[in-house]
Amino acid sequence: MNRKTRYSRVIKGLHNWIIFFVLFSFVITCCLMLFISVLSNSLGIVFSEENLSDAAKLTFINVIFISLLFTVFDSLRRWFMVNRPVNKILDAAKKITKGDFSARIQPVNTLFADDGFNKIIECFNKMAEELSGIETLRADFIANVSHELKTPLAVMQNYGTMLQQPVLSDEKRLEYSKGITEAARRLSNLITNILKLNKLKNQQMFPSVKEYNLSEQICESLLQFENEWEKKKITIKTDIEDGVKIRSDEELLSLVWNNLFSNAMKFTGENGTVSVSLESKGDVAVINVKDTGCGMTPEVGAHIFEKFYQGDTSHSEKGNGLGLALVKRVVDIMHGEIRVESVLGKGSSFTVEFDRNLSKN
Ligand code: ADP
Repeated sequence: MNRKTRYSRVIKGLHNWIIFFVLFSFVITCCLMLFISVLSNSLGIVFSEENLSDAAKLTFINVIFISLLFTVFDSLRRWFMVNRPVNKILDAAKKITKGDFSARIQPVNTLFADDGFNKIIECFNKMAEELSGIETLRADFIANVSHELKTPLAVMQNYGTMLQQPVLSDEKRLEYSKGITEAARRLSNLITNILKLNKLKNQQMFPSVKEYNLSEQICESLLQFENEWEKKKITIKTDIEDGVKIRSDEELLSLVWNNLFSNAMKFTGENGTVSVSLESKGDVAVINVKDTGCGMTPEVGAHIFEKFYQGDTSHSEKGNGLGLALVKRVVDIMHGEIRVESVLGKGSSFTVEFDRNLSKN
């Protein structure tokens, strides 16, 4: 809207307002005069025509004056108590629309404004805080994903270039192609984990509940790591209660065991020990995975369930920091609990507890 049309709108509004104001004052004056003449007739008081016309003029002026006074007072009240807080909220909302999630509104003074505005402002600030949290997570996620994608791609690129050399021994050719295969495996793992995590986060993956044997699942999952524990001469100790039946999502829970076992093997050095136990305590199943590996500090322990967090960078090329984030998400979906106890240099112990009947939750 340009300035000219804005002015003409204001003048038109003012013009209408004055007509309404004068008409309104005239009607009130007539009513008052009618009331005075009825009252004076009933009291037997007789006014001259001149006196009546003077009284009517005076009443009209007084009505206009008092109405003006109230109008000014009401406009000021509206400006302080309504327009100001509304403008503050509108300004902040405009900032948020433009992507500035740092916008916050100071509470208004309740002496001058309705307390309802402070309730709206409180809700607005909470919403802005949530939005800025989501925005930070999104930005971090993109930065982490790009970094994690670039690393194996660079490895593949390097090995690919080296493979192009005209004279190359069979040994070197094998080494470079193995490097490419390993980088491709990492890339594929990363993408699979990101997709799974995304699905779980968005609640698109609904648990498909069925009854199955948890003891068998844990044994089968552990056996997948046989090559690794043999290579590192790790002793495996098991205390798995037989025939523990649960009603839950088999596929989702296998993610938990695979990640916990994979970490235990990864972070345990040669000749170490990994112990796995399963116990059913009434309706609850308790699984413990304990290792005599490198362990972690309490500071690291506080972040291990975050996406892309890697406390021990010496093993970083073997993982992507998504394993425990996935584990935590699945355990949350199962309404279960996961605890970690760890001592740096001594080992870690992960305990998972959940109800044996998911459909009960
Ligand atoms: P990744 O194993 O790919 O690094 P995870 O999400 O599985 O990612 O684990 C996150 C971090 O938690 C690891 O980088 C490591 O620092 C720590 N961690 C997990 N399991 C163990 C363990 N058994 N022993 C010591 N540290 C562990």
